[in-house]
Amino acid sequence: MTGESAGAATESGTRTQALSSALTGLLERIDAACRAAGRDPARVRLLPVTKFFPASDVAILYRLGRREFGESREQEAGAKVAELADLPDIQWHMIGHLQRNKAKAVARWAHTVHSVDSSRLITALDVGVRAAREAGYRDTPLRVLLQVSLDRDPTRGGVAADDLPALADQVDKSENLQLGGLMAVPPLDADPEPEFARLAELHARLLKRHPMGTELSAGMSADLEAAIRHGSTCVRVGTALMGARPITSG
Ligand SMILES: *Cc1c(COP(=O)(O)O)cnc(C)c1O
Repeated sequence: MTGESAGAATESGTRTQALSSALTGLLERIDAACRAAGRDPARVRLLPVTKFFPASDVAILYRLGRREFGESREQEAGAKVAELADLPDIQWHMIGHLQRNKAKAVARWAHTVHSVDSSRLITALDVGVRAAREAGYRDTPLRVLLQVSLDRDPTRGGVAADDLPALADQVDKSENLQLGGLMAVPPLDADPEPEFARLAELHARLLKRHPMGTELSAGMSADLEAAIRHGSTCVRVGTALMGARPITSG
C-alpha cells in the first residue's frame, strides 16, 4: 500500500466509525421517542438525509445496513445515483423542493418524492415516469407524498390544507404514480408540537379517502421526538447523523 492510499484508508475508517456511532445513537434516540410515545419502533423509519455529503458517505451507510437515502437537489442526487448504481436495493428519496423541469430526471431515479405540491408537478411526474418506464430506467410507479404547507405561506412551498383532497385524487388517478401519504416541515422558529398535531389531523382526513396513504414523513434532527408523538412514520435526519452541512441553505 502506498502512503497515500494508506492515508485514504485510515480516513475512510475514521468516517465509518463516526457514522456508525452517530447511527447507533440516532436509532436509540428514535427508539426512546417511540417508547415515550407508546408507539412501536418498527413503525417509524429513519431516512438518512445525505445532501451535501459525498457518495462515499452513502456507501458507508449502505454497508452499515441502510437502504433508503434522502436528497434535496436533483443534480447532486443524480450524480450520486450514477456513482452508486451497482448497490442493489438502494432507494433514493427526493425530499427537497422540486421544479417541474427537473421532474423528468427525478422520475428516472427516485423511489419516492416527498415534496409534491402542485397539480402541474403531479402531471409532470406522471409523464416523466411513463417516459422513464419506456426507456427502461424503472419498472415501478413512483411513490409520491404531498407536502403540506403548515405555515399557510404558499411561497415557501407545500399544499394548502384546502387543496389536499383534489391533489390526492389527482395522484390517485395518475397511472404512473402511487399516493404514499403526506410530508411536512414545520415553519422556522415555530413550536413544532401544534404544527405536527395539525399535520396528524390532515393525515387522518386523507386516510379516510385514501387508506393506502399511510406514510407521514415528519421530523428532522431537531424535532423528531415531537413528530413521533404525532404519528410520524418516517423521520428525515441529516445533521444528527452526518454532522453539520458545509452549506445550510438546502
Ligand atoms: C435537509 C432536510 C432535512 C434534514 O434536516 P436536518 O435538520 O439536518 O436533520 C429534512 N427534511 C428536508 C426537507 C430537508 O431539506
